[in-house]
Amino acid sequence: MSNNAAEVAKRRTFAIISHPDAGKTTITERLLLMGQAINVAGTVKARKSDRHATSDWMAMEKQRGISVSTSVMQFPYRECMINLLDTPGHEDFSEDTYRTLTAVDSALMVLDGGKGVEPRTIALMDVCRLRDTPIVSFVNKLDRDIRDPIELLDEIEAVLNIKAAPITWPIGCYRDFKGVYHLTRDEIIVYETGHGHERTVSRIISKLDSDEAREHLDDLYDSFVEELELVQGACHDFDRQAFLDGKMTPVFFGTALGNFGVDQVLDAIVDWAPPPLPRAANERTVLPAEDAFTGFVFKIQANMDPKHRDRIAFMRICSGQYEKGMKLHHVRTGKELRVPDALTFFAAEREHLEEAWAGDIIGLHNHGTIQIGDTFSQGESLGFTGIPHFAPELFRRVRLKDPLKSKQLRQGLQELAEEGATQVFFPERSNDIILGAVGVLQFDVVASRLKEEYKVECIYEPVTVWSARWVESDNKKKLEEFSNKAMENLAIDGGGHLTYLAPTRVNLGLTEERWPDIRFLATREHH
Ligand code: GDP
Repeated sequence: MSNNAAEVAKRRTFAIISHPDAGKTTITERLLLMGQAINVAGTVKARKSDRHATSDWMAMEKQRGISVSTSVMQFPYRECMINLLDTPGHEDFSEDTYRTLTAVDSALMVLDGGKGVEPRTIALMDVCRLRDTPIVSFVNKLDRDIRDPIELLDEIEAVLNIKAAPITWPIGCYRDFKGVYHLTRDEIIVYETGHGHERTVSRIISKLDSDEAREHLDDLYDSFVEELELVQGACHDFDRQAFLDGKMTPVFFGTALGNFGVDQVLDAIVDWAPPPLPRAANERTVLPAEDAFTGFVFKIQANMDPKHRDRIAFMRICSGQYEKGMKLHHVRTGKELRVPDALTFFAAEREHLEEAWAGDIIGLHNHGTIQIGDTFSQGESLGFTGIPHFAPELFRRVRLKDPLKSKQLRQGLQELAEEGATQVFFPERSNDIILGAVGVLQFDVVASRLKEEYKVECIYEPVTVWSARWVESDNKKKLEEFSNKAMENLAIDGGGHLTYLAPTRVNLGLTEERWPDIRFLATREHH
């Protein structure tokens, strides 16, 4: 095997998908504990961008230096190098989440055992299904009262439309939680309280039909054996191919807080989840072990470290090897970019990186030239597909409290818009600035960040924009004619693209009818 192929085979790149409060942060910590990235759980302050209250979010964001460390984490586990990508759980951040999920090869779905499948779980699964991403499932909070596990599996199958294959089965819950039974290995993994914050090796009882097992399960024994017969009769056996095809999910039970069961999940990801997969570009499919470097940017984050005004572009490597100091070809601009100082996100620290392979995420310092969706190569003209921008649905006119700061305002809005959660529009006919977002929370976040990071105070005003559409046409003359006629409603977005700001739904419908040669796009992909 070539060096590239060997490195690729070691990589596992995944994200956790869950409804807020199901336990994603707690699991993330336990995973880092396992990867020796931290020594005691509870030491990494989690990024809580998924809290409902804006104030919480902002207070947390103040600890930005920390929050960064949890948006991409790399750690070694067994023979593998794990890349764990954080996905904000709040629905206002769905675009960011969507694009992050384009950069993973598998996902871990976490359910609160007391609640089962929740709205956000469904939405995130829908996104994963677009690429048939393999899903490992973890039912959390077994140290509390949970719903009937059989009912939970039925719910996964019925609501999420994926076959569920239990790998472990819980023995009791809440105060009676005694551990899990491994269905194929015929062993009991014993749960003991008090090990929530450190690495531990669980006691194993090797057969259910043994005195040790009878003693451990005590008066739960007979009913558990009965339940197990039912489960084994009714449930699917695990089929790896079906899992890889995104049609079946292996299910594990445990408690993240009690640090129990998370190791089994990570083992499943190492054993079963795919290494970096081939990836479609407009021109061809790129294989991860190819010699030449390729990658795409799925996320941009401004001012991660408030002391250094840095904007980091997160790039997923799709093939080849990154070496410190190498030159990359920025396909959209056609320019060469020397990268002496890409960042990796090893454990809780940002570190300067020497080399990286397909599946890894590297951070590039961005000075405004890199956009979400951009492809980098070693010269080949190539564009990875499937990293869209969505038209925003909410709009506000942005006004300054101090009119002298308009330059800072423009710069701030432009830089924050690069992150993709908001979009900024400059109407052709006025000096207005219009901000568009998918969720209303974004407006508050932008105002707060403008104040903190750019020292600009702004006010929002209502504006009659119903929706935005990116405008394209193969017919240059028609486009010019349209540009003149519709000038009132045209704007240039932060990326320099012509956009139609439709005041009403009816207006958009009529305009589309009147201009059949013009395409009005609700999503835009970079080429
Ligand atoms: P997130 O919103 O998905 O990141 O969820 P968190 O990890 O922050 O967990 C939400 C709440 O559930 C926190 O108060 C956790 O302490 C708690 N929690 C997480 N895992 C468990 C668990 O296994 N058992 C119990 N009892 N509580 C848990």
